[in-house]
Amino acid sequence: MSEQTVHKSESEHGAPLADPFGRNVTYLRVSVTDRCDFRCFYCMSEHMTFLPKRELLTLEELDRLCSAFVARGVRKLRITGGEPLVRKNIMWLFRALSRHLESGALDELTLTTNGSQLARFAEELARYGVKRVNISLDTLDPARFQEITRWGHFDKVMTGIEAAERAGLTIKINTVALKGVNEDELEDIMRWAHGRGFDLTLIETMPLGEIDGDRVEQYLPLSIVRARLMERWTLVDIPYKTGGPARYVEVKETGGRLGFITPLTHNFCESCNRVRLTCTGQLYMCLGQEDIADLRAPLRASDDDGLLQAAIDEAISRKPKGHDFVIDRRTRRPALERHMSVTGG
Ligand code: SAM
Ligand code: SF4
Repeated sequence: MSEQTVHKSESEHGAPLADPFGRNVTYLRVSVTDRCDFRCFYCMSEHMTFLPKRELLTLEELDRLCSAFVARGVRKLRITGGEPLVRKNIMWLFRALSRHLESGALDELTLTTNGSQLARFAEELARYGVKRVNISLDTLDPARFQEITRWGHFDKVMTGIEAAERAGLTIKINTVALKGVNEDELEDIMRWAHGRGFDLTLIETMPLGEIDGDRVEQYLPLSIVRARLMERWTLVDIPYKTGGPARYVEVKETGGRLGFITPLTHNFCESCNRVRLTCTGQLYMCLGQEDIADLRAPLRASDDDGLLQAAIDEAISRKPKGHDFVIDRRTRRPALERHMSVTGG
């Protein structure tokens, strides 16, 4: 089959995906590649070994898999990576998935990106129904940006952000809070983001994958960041929800929204509605657990989605109640061997 054809099975709507704890799975994050044009030091080692290309699902297979989830009540798709916009012909997938927005089966098609390719793709993304985009940015200082991302170019990301604004996309900035790296800059980033009308979400580092540095050294609890911010800013808890795990406050002085994602210091599992698919078709039922279900074999075994749907049901029946992240302070090993770029966060 070519990427010009799209699978028909999504018209046969199945039962919603409910896990053993009564949570409905309505949010699928899909990593479309493990590759990236950056090498952020907290995410990857400089000399990463990537998957052989033949291991990857084709774009058509990714479309079929996403559509199988949409048929089962998934209302939100987030495309991520690695860097999703470096995957060859990725606009084909956005265009294909946009039919679910048009049919009303899907509420939102969105992506998380480092912004490096947005100057090229922002307009097309908007055309395919993408309304919001999460852009990761850990500093406003070009030299520091180079140090953090190793291979990234700050100006290119800024041009990408401007292109996204021009295309009418709503922008949320994601910033990983890093001890001794950008902790002195978090207020400036907030002022800058809110000044441009962007939400900002601060993320605590998660102990995923072998990197060159030391995770204990870079871990900065967001409880500390929040306490520091509260010395100078008025943070008011708000019930705002985007379907993700962030807890939001409104910053009275800026009028902007600030989110906190704190997987280590706060347990957000009770309201977890999401699962994660890797670019090889492995489904992670929980970001903080190793348990996976292989969806590639049932996908490839037949053109009919029967086997695939049965595998999805079986996987969701194994969704655990919660995660158990911990940075091991004795061995300083990551809690989980895989990198964030496998599941896209
Ligand atoms: N390349 C895209 C980007 O950077 O936005 C998408 C994939 S990236 C893995 C998704 C998010 O995960 C980014 O905001 C990144 O900063 C964050 N991230 C990567 N490794 C992390 C880690 N170990 N702990 C916490 N966040 C991490
Ligand atoms: Fe690439 Fe995103 Fe990881 Fe940075 S955080 S190395 S941009 S995948």
